[in-house]
Amino acid sequence: MRPVPKKICLDCRNFSLQTVATGVCKVVKGLPAYPVKATEDSCARWLDCGQQYYIRIGWIKARLAQEQDAQITTGTGIIT
Ligand code: SF4
Repeated sequence: MRPVPKKICLDCRNFSLQTVATGVCKVVKGLPAYPVKATEDSCARWLDCGQQYYIRIGWIKARLAQEQDAQITTGTGIIT
């Protein structure tokens, strides 16, 4: 069962994740560029994104694992 949402951008329906720590807020539609927000930011217009939260967490974990693998490969000089 999903824990109670934290009411941060990471679990907000208006948030679009872009990096492991940031994304954009699309609460105001049609902007030429959406404002960048940290995943831990919050505001009064927060809306629960439901299952999307798990997809975002999975994407962040996969991206962090990829970055860690790249660092290990670079550190040893072994190209795979
Ligand atoms: S700034 Fe507010 S509305 Fe925008 S993504 Fe974050 S919590 Fe949601």
